[in-house]
Amino acid sequence: MASDADCVFCRIVAGGIPAEVVRETERTLAFPDVSPQAPVHVLVIPKDHRADLDAVVADDPELAGELLRECAAVADHLGVREAGYRVVTNIGAQGGQGVFHCHLHVLAGRQMSDALG
Ligand code: C5P
Repeated sequence: MASDADCVFCRIVAGGIPAEVVRETERTLAFPDVSPQAPVHVLVIPKDHRADLDAVVADDPELAGELLRECAAVADHLGVREAGYRVVTNIGAQGGQGVFHCHLHVLAGRQMSDALG
């Protein structure tokens, strides 16, 4: 499995940094964001190290689909799917990405603003 010892999310996948697992599949992991921006704020990541969603789409479109399905599954699991939720992914420095291991933010539990940045 592709892993980067310096990557904080690879360390979570490897169990070196503890995280409460919300959902897990063979290729994906979902866990709460350490700095939640909403009552529900979960990150969905591929277990393999990929820099961002662009890289996943290019290398493995099937996995990109699985990540999106997992966002819906997380919303279902946490009981917020019906009320609505937001999925965000930041790509690159100007896109606001801070951790360079692909992750999709699942945000819910409050009214989202219509501002997109
Ligand atoms: O999209 P962006 O790269 O800015 O988001 C990274 C997210 O990862 C932040 O919301 C941050 O709180 C979260 N994070 C985390 N656990 C860490 C490091 C960062 O949940 N150990």
